[in-house]
Amino acid sequence: MDKQNIHGQTLEAWIERHPALERIIRAEEVVWLNPKYRSFNDYKASLSLSLEDIKEAAARFRRFQPLIATLFPETADDDGLIESSIIQIPKMQSDLSKHYGVDLPGKLWVKADHELPIAGSIKARGGIYEVLKFAEHLALEHGLLQTSDDYSLLAGAGPCALFQQYGIMVGSTGNLGLSIGIMSAKLGFNVDVHMSADAKEWKKETLRSVGATVVQHTDDFSGAVAEGRKAAEADSHVYFVDDEWSRDLFMGYAVAALRIKKQLETARIQVDEAHPLFVYLPCGVGGGPGGVTFGLKQVFEDAVHCFFAEPTESPAMFLGLLTGMHEKVSVGDFGLSNHTVADGLAVGRPSGAVGKIIEKMVSGMYTVRDEHLYQLLRQLMDAEEMYLEPSALAGFPGPYNLIGTAAGKEYLKQQGLDEEKFANATHLLWGTGGSMVPDDVRQADDQIARKK
Ligand SMILES: *Cc1c(COP(=O)(O)O)cnc(C)c1O
Repeated sequence: MDKQNIHGQTLEAWIERHPALERIIRAEEVVWLNPKYRSFNDYKASLSLSLEDIKEAAARFRRFQPLIATLFPETADDDGLIESSIIQIPKMQSDLSKHYGVDLPGKLWVKADHELPIAGSIKARGGIYEVLKFAEHLALEHGLLQTSDDYSLLAGAGPCALFQQYGIMVGSTGNLGLSIGIMSAKLGFNVDVHMSADAKEWKKETLRSVGATVVQHTDDFSGAVAEGRKAAEADSHVYFVDDEWSRDLFMGYAVAALRIKKQLETARIQVDEAHPLFVYLPCGVGGGPGGVTFGLKQVFEDAVHCFFAEPTESPAMFLGLLTGMHEKVSVGDFGLSNHTVADGLAVGRPSGAVGKIIEKMVSGMYTVRDEHLYQLLRQLMDAEEMYLEPSALAGFPGPYNLIGTAAGKEYLKQQGLDEEKFANATHLLWGTGGSMVPDDVRQADDQIARKK
């Protein structure tokens, strides 16, 4: 790092403007409140996407359900719905309260996206949605489909022959590649997944086994995306899924909010300003947590409070929001390595498009050290017999950051969340991935976790 000139300013000048930077660049755990956070109605009208767009995406998912149920029999019981449950984790709540030495009022839940069918991670929302939308577009354009049809006809020889003429390409740290790769290959597309250097071996093997082509990069995530984009631009029959800015990915994630509303109602969990919902989301490039937050804000407005979590070595969205420079800043600019056990979050440069949409929606950010992720993994396995991949644990310190740090307490005060309201809170930790992790990798994670 050139200490004397980071985007035209000295490091000292940066720290003076944003004091949180001092600890961020030392890779310490930091809790930060977003000074641009606003009440939803202050900016709702200025958003370029709306609740109607989310409903349109949800309707598209519904049209595809008969096809999904046909192609992926594990979803047949749910009629091809790709959704996960919400699970209350009272033992983990009491263990964490002991561990952090502070009692958490309210109830702690996990959104079990690690159990999402087909891809086993939050990417089964956005990634699959984008592939389906492209397939629908092609089939409609070629007169093989009408939106009123039963979409299971897309599993037939005609549509498959059409899809075989097209390629789909994506750059990924792993899970997006899995979701795009599995869905695309199943429909008949030729699919190339450009993997960053951090991508886990088992993810590459799984992709090869379903017939996807894995292109290995020595570069990090942004490099893999740039290479993929370049390769796709050279060929008009190749569709590139752009994780750094894809409206379709974003909308696929946002649909989660409509589903959660129903799940909370079914579980008789009240959400309003006196019964706040806190949501803690692990963040990589930002599309997953950003899309979910966008949806939640549309549905619950100021009753929902969303916090994003990143590894201490990869606080990409954090730096983007803090400096206001979005995609123009990378963690390397501030001397951070972008090396973390949380491979799904190993992103050095945030999505600028997502950062700009969520700038006023995100309540705050915090960072988590790798050792802390392993400790949480061990606690979750012991308390609830639940395995998540390390990335998916990043959200877990969130509720305790609220009650256990000056910044957290300040947030509750600013929002008028007194003890009574806070006691009515529901805390939802987004479990972003893990069910497809092979046993030997889980056991290795478990062993590392137990040595820490
Ligand atoms: C991709 C991913 C995230 C974050 O999503 P982004 O869209 O990259 O911000 C979180 N957890 C896991 C396990 C992931 O694979």
